Amino acid sequence: MRSIQHFIHGKPFAGSSGQFADVFNPATGEVQARVALAGAAELQAAVDSAKSAQGDWAATNPQRRARVMAKFVALLNANLRELAELMSREHGKTVGDSIGDLQRGLEVAEFATGVAHLLKGEFTEGAGPGIDMYCLRQPVGIGAGITPFNFPGMIPMWMFAPAIACGNAFILKPSERDPSVPVRLAELMLEAGLPPGILNVVHGGKDAVDAILAHPDIAAVSFVGSTPIASYVYAQGAAGGKRVQCFGGAKNHAIIMPDADMEVTVDAMIGAGYGSAGERCMAISVAVPVGEETANRLVAALKPRVENLKVGPYTAENIDFGPLVTKAARDKITGLVDGGVAQGASLVVDGRGLAMQGYENGFYMGACLFDHVKPSMDIYKTEIFGPVLSVVRAKNFEEALSLASDHEYGNGTAIFTRDGDAARDFASRVQVGMVGINVPIPTPLAYYSFGGWKRSMFGDLNQHGTDSIRFWTRTKTVTARWPSGIKAGAEFSIPVISR
Ligand code: NAD
Repeated sequence: MRSIQHFIHGKPFAGSSGQFADVFNPATGEVQARVALAGAAELQAAVDSAKSAQGDWAATNPQRRARVMAKFVALLNANLRELAELMSREHGKTVGDSIGDLQRGLEVAEFATGVAHLLKGEFTEGAGPGIDMYCLRQPVGIGAGITPFNFPGMIPMWMFAPAIACGNAFILKPSERDPSVPVRLAELMLEAGLPPGILNVVHGGKDAVDAILAHPDIAAVSFVGSTPIASYVYAQGAAGGKRVQCFGGAKNHAIIMPDADMEVTVDAMIGAGYGSAGERCMAISVAVPVGEETANRLVAALKPRVENLKVGPYTAENIDFGPLVTKAARDKITGLVDGGVAQGASLVVDGRGLAMQGYENGFYMGACLFDHVKPSMDIYKTEIFGPVLSVVRAKNFEEALSLASDHEYGNGTAIFTRDGDAARDFASRVQVGMVGINVPIPTPLAYYSFGGWKRSMFGDLNQHGTDSIRFWTRTKTVTARWPSGIKAGAEFSIPVISR
């Protein structure tokens, strides 16, 4: 059986923890590999390697660092199909979707090629008599990234591309469920000219994460995953004096106004609700039609489309989405759907118990559509993270706005309307971090920043865009006065700008 090792100082690293996890092929249900899990000793090896390399890397001028990133972009483009297939084999999503995953990450690496410009500091000539003041952006040192299973290419690149371009060494702890692509990314960075030690990959679960959080030489931690773990990592990391940003779960609402173009809206609900089997933090999981008539038209149009969605292995042609990542995930989602029925929601399309011919052991589940979901129900409160769309009927715009604003999560939301006033009002008032107007998945591009509000995000600086440059650097402000501007004599009062 294939064995997946850590990747430390430019080489595979077996480690000695004696702990391993199975890596499944969700399409067939088979165990296809074993991944080594790290404990404190493996993490220490990664930190030692990072420490030995980081100083020289930080001293390499930013344009040279950018060239490594540009070469990495070219190599990733050249290897896109191979990496996408590797990703689909461990994650289960379609190859087209895996290509999209890699491309969105690659865009962040492209953004990071602009690091020489992005790191330019501020300068004030003559801030006082003969005094200049300027601000430097210096790398934090060693950063770590802890990433979820659902975007094994994009999310590691969200983190390591800006962190490394800024002059840091980076330790990536990817999801143990689909660990192969992150290692391939590190290999490609090495091939692009990155010195060994600047990007190390340690695999693992809670033990590896706790070792990262406890390590005094790791200055900054970026986390993406579920909200309970995000809040734990934030609290532990911050208590240890680290800079921490943690991105958690979601329950993204789409508000459908009576004047919305129903054909466009239904296409949007299908793609954003069921793409990648709903295993996206920006998936639409709640549709909120405004008014009974809008709701009736929406559900009537959605039902046949949901019934006809094609589920299958990533190797099949023309499928809409693949299996769930694990059997446990499928069982959990099926249990939530059972609960929704028991609590009185109408299950308009039931995808439970899907048997896939020839792939009976795969982790498949068909698409589910609920109507008449109430805010008190568990299927509304919980992040399901599966192919389940819930329709919550709202009486008017204000009620729809409150639903999106009052939910504990605030990652993404969207409004479908032809009314510019309503769209503008919604975008301005809704208590959610990323808003789409007739755009179902409003994931910001690499040069903007990505992040939710409320319990979808802990910390203050977002992923990518200029926020990432701030997160992965420390500001140093220098006040300089040269001898010709210095008058003799000690000053005992606090210096102020003279009037
Ligand atoms: P997860 O929280 O189970 O795992 C995330 C990471 O934490 C993994 O690397 C995992 O190994 C580690 N981990 C797991 N249990 C841990 C524990 N007890 N202590 C310390 N570390 C632990 O999340 P997942 O199932 O891999 O990913 C899906 C979740 O990620 C969903 O909730 C989804 O909404 C969220 N997500 C959020 C965003 C965002 O940007 N807000 C993006 C993608 C995914």
